Amino acid sequence: MERTVEQTDRQTQYRHLRERLLQERTRLQEEADTLRQRVRDNGQDFSSATVRHGAYDAGDDSFATFEQEKTIALEQNIRGLLKAVHRALDKLDQGTYGVCEECGREIPLARLEAFPEAMLCVEDQAKRERRRTRGL
Ligand SMILES: [Zn+2]
Repeated sequence: MERTVEQTDRQTQYRHLRERLLQERTRLQEEADTLRQRVRDNGQDFSSATVRHGAYDAGDDSFATFEQEKTIALEQNIRGLLKAVHRALDKLDQGTYGVCEECGREIPLARLEAFPEAMLCVEDQAKRERRRTRGL
């Protein structure tokens, strides 16, 4: 009986999570596009500024490069998140959402509520991050 309630709960929650993931996908897509545009604009600004001043300013140059790199890193970060959101939506379509990719156990709803794009349970996420930190 309790199990049935829990399963019904999950289906309701998954519908709710799908809405959130779809909204997240739109938001991230827009953000990534905005950042890409900024990278392009900055690139143009920088080359026209160099021409305008007719002199090479190393200080401005490194600052512009630093800002540009930061924006590019941010864009890559957002594209990574976007990929995870896409994967979560695929899993929802295939009915494999909410199951840990490592151990195959159900990921607790509380965790999915906090991270709708989660693919691993807390334990396996921690293990994976430890492996990554060690560079394995
Ligand atoms: Zn697991």
